[in-house]
Amino acid sequence: DDLSPAETAQFTSAVVGVVTKFGGPTSHTAIVCRQRGIPAIVGVGQLIDQISLGQDLLIDAAESLIVLNADQPQQHIVRTDLSDSQSQIQSEPIIEVLGNAGSTADAEALNQTRASGIGLFRTELLFLNRPVAPSLEEQAALYSRVLESAPGSKVIFRTLDVDSDKALPFISGRHSDLRGWRLHKAAPQILQTQLAAISLAAKSTGKNAAVMAPMISTAHDAGEFAELAKLNGIGDVGVMVETPELASNIEQLAGLVDFVSIGTNDLSRYLFGVDRLASESAELLDGWQPKLLQAIKEITLSAKAISLRVSVCGEAAADPLFAVVLAGLGVDSVSMAGPAIARVAAQLSEISKEKAREVALAALAAADRKAARQLASAKLEQ
Ligand code: PEP
Ligand code: MG
Repeated sequence: DDLSPAETAQFTSAVVGVVTKFGGPTSHTAIVCRQRGIPAIVGVGQLIDQISLGQDLLIDAAESLIVLNADQPQQHIVRTDLSDSQSQIQSEPIIEVLGNAGSTADAEALNQTRASGIGLFRTELLFLNRPVAPSLEEQAALYSRVLESAPGSKVIFRTLDVDSDKALPFISGRHSDLRGWRLHKAAPQILQTQLAAISLAAKSTGKNAAVMAPMISTAHDAGEFAELAKLNGIGDVGVMVETPELASNIEQLAGLVDFVSIGTNDLSRYLFGVDRLASESAELLDGWQPKLLQAIKEITLSAKAISLRVSVCGEAAADPLFAVVLAGLGVDSVSMAGPAIARVAAQLSEISKEKAREVALAALAAADRKAARQLASAKLEQ
């Protein structure tokens, strides 16, 4: 029926495709599949009953298409190629394109793409099956490997982010229900060890490590996180914008952090009050919802006014047309799973900043998500 991110993270290369009855497109199971280039279609509901054991399927996840009874399907299987198929494109993307990663293998694989670093390293994905908290030494060694194997000169480590579908077994009992800063308040040693480990990794490798905190609700919490990170010797500190409360108070971050990163997956979830894991929520979680576009515009304007860098690391940024809109709204960088980078980087290399602004304005004028996409697409083609 469904798979947990912990199960999905254990897939070997024998798994070439995934179809599940339940689950939403921004669930962490879908995210882990995307990271690994495994075509996945989630939340197909009763349609799954039409598939019988041992049947060959063709799965075209980009088109949400499952072909049953395909003739000689082996002939059609195309493996996801991380390298840029449009290598003739010479120009640079108009904004920075970075990768998302959740394992050392993901970080390494980004070398085959045009990613100029890692915009979101989901550290919790390293520890999904751990009954005992990873030690300072083990974490430092893992983060060093990430820093050494990633492309470019920048890795943004997101501190541990526990969620309903990303439970960490070593955070148990009452604490397992706490997210973001609330967890830190209740169990401060966990974050302290992690920040110390990231700092050690940066020192021993001589690479740049930035950190950002997930699920920050207030500027006060952001300030406390930044202070702790800087006390640990980390110079570049940011917070994710994933709650409507922080989204509407960005100006209060002035002087507290260096950058913000918009998590469209959770920001949509809390703007619309829907469950990320439910396929029934997919429409409201669509990045093209006017309410989300408006929120991204306002966050970006407010952040720029206080000289903060702005990135977008949620799944919406993996859609090349959406990435154009983000560039047009003034976002400085976008990051996405390795397999999505080639198309996004190619699209962002083909247009001017002025054109991106026109595309963004067209999307902002729309009354609903479908019109937003259509208007943006039409403007891009003009
Ligand atoms: C987000 O919420 O958009 C995000 C990038 O974080 P995660 O998907 O890990 O919750
Ligand atoms: Mg999130």
